[in-house]
Amino acid sequence: MNTVLCRSDAVDGTSTPCLPPPATPSYMVDHHVVEGIEERPALAPHTDTDARLLVRLIQCRQCSKPFSSPVTMPCGHTVCQRCLPAPQRRVNISYPQTLDHQLGILCPVCGQENSTADCNVDVTVSKIMALLVDYVSRWTAKHAEVVLTLEEVPQPPNDALISEKEMKGHVAQYGGGRLAGTFQMAVDGLLDYWADVAYSKSPGCEKDDLEDLDLDHFNSLRDAISTEMDCMVCYNTMLDPTTTPCGHTFCRHCLMRTLDHSIICPVCRRDVYLSPSLLYQPKNHCLASILDQVWPEVVAARKHTVSEEERPEGALDVPLFVCTLALPGMPCFLHIFEPRYRLMMRRCMEGNRKFGMLMYNQASTSQGDLGVTRFLEYGTLLHIVNFQLLPDGRSLVETVGVSRFRVIEHGMLDGYDVGRIERVDDISLGTEKRLEATEVGTAQSQAALYNAQHPPVPMTAANCPELLTTIELFQACKQYILDMRARSAPWLSERLVRAYGDCPDDPATFPYWFAAVLPIAEEQKYLLLRTTSVRERLKIVYMWIRRIEGQRLLLPRCGGYIGNILATCMGGFHASLTAFISTS
Ligand SMILES: [Zn+2]
Ligand SMILES: [Zn+2]
Ligand SMILES: [Zn+2]
Ligand SMILES: [Zn+2]
Repeated sequence: MNTVLCRSDAVDGTSTPCLPPPATPSYMVDHHVVEGIEERPALAPHTDTDARLLVRLIQCRQCSKPFSSPVTMPCGHTVCQRCLPAPQRRVNISYPQTLDHQLGILCPVCGQENSTADCNVDVTVSKIMALLVDYVSRWTAKHAEVVLTLEEVPQPPNDALISEKEMKGHVAQYGGGRLAGTFQMAVDGLLDYWADVAYSKSPGCEKDDLEDLDLDHFNSLRDAISTEMDCMVCYNTMLDPTTTPCGHTFCRHCLMRTLDHSIICPVCRRDVYLSPSLLYQPKNHCLASILDQVWPEVVAARKHTVSEEERPEGALDVPLFVCTLALPGMPCFLHIFEPRYRLMMRRCMEGNRKFGMLMYNQASTSQGDLGVTRFLEYGTLLHIVNFQLLPDGRSLVETVGVSRFRVIEHGMLDGYDVGRIERVDDISLGTEKRLEATEVGTAQSQAALYNAQHPPVPMTAANCPELLTTIELFQACKQYILDMRARSAPWLSERLVRAYGDCPDDPATFPYWFAAVLPIAEEQKYLLLRTTSVRERLKIVYMWIRRIEGQRLLLPRCGGYIGNILATCMGGFHASLTAFISTS
């Protein structure tokens, strides 16, 4: 006889939905809301289902055993180190220039390709596993007389047709109660990740209060691993656990705040190559599931506290200064004398010392959902590093660009603009690598086809930047800086470099520095604020250089070119160094 079976719910929500849907376990329907906090009782092994689900939280999807040297990949999935597939060579990937980035590992759970360099042992899950193995074995020894018979009930993949004979699972006897027995069954390799378990007392087992025993065991395990669930930045239970490539896990918002000013892991001090906003960084599914299932009330309370701390949705709480172009990581000097902006600066100084800088919308173009506004929708959040109040009320303000943003909503407050903003960030480095590989690969094959027809102007890197890898683009741009230095280009003068710092070695920030020193129109530089990948920014800079070089070749006299550059440079230099605001 053929039977249609379906898998029980996957614990991390990444499996495909089953048809027909499984009956919702009792712990899932017992929802109630208290003062805005959603509470759900913790999974506790009162029932057979819960003991099974708890063990599944720490079972590897590949080998079905409890994790051994668990590795959490950038896609957020965890498997044993020995269960990772062999790395494969990736082509056309040059950025980021980290160790082993040319080798990729396909996640056995979701199929996403991750850099080998980013697949390291998950420190938190490893510690949890060591504690669990130790505690379960001691518990089992102490309660060896409570012997249960466990029968594995296989749950084949969706809609798979299998015979009744194939449905026969493993049967084994274990001491220590349901939770300990299920764990041990997984250790022995007798429990498939998807399988359920049927429990019965073995002959001679007199234990009546099995539920109490399991609950005691559950509580002792929960206490044992609870400190491992603390974030090393805020020392609270982790909220939305996010793991770095070095294997350390923090609350997403804690890691975000750390990466805002440093690229170093707060625990091991290794470089962390993650996009600072972490918007696209998947959470650690394993730890998130453990937290959700074992500490649901703590997670709900933490979520509530953090959302209270964060600013209320819809508030126009960021002061906006419509004045000039500012760039992330670059200084911007301001001279404030208009009364409404004096008030704005005073409020900024009393608050978080941050405000948004926007450019004028000179051409009155439509700004997305905002329509036609007097400013361009993308800007840079500035942090006031130095504030000098002059005796007559004017002030000299030294700021530095923190991050890019887009205006979502805006209004006026006491004469100056205020708004609700959304941070603009780069795509994840994983996506960046895939983008580079696809773009370079496509451009190369197109160029080969096109050039085979011997056109008058063949497709080369000079007219098609897509042919260059990200690092080749970066090197070409840096070479231009070196060439200009050798020619003593005035816009690379000592004075400018002193204001903006030396040429950065980081391809992600280099374009901002280049834009800060290069004498071209601010509308051109503005394009950088809208980019969402390092590659996109480098291509923009590369095309500026191609255009400037083209102009230089067309000009008969070198002096004319230098003269023009010098004039533009001095104008641009003053414009970006000091912005004067006319008194109303
Ligand atoms: Zn495994
Ligand atoms: Zn994955
Ligand atoms: Zn934290
Ligand atoms: Zn670390």
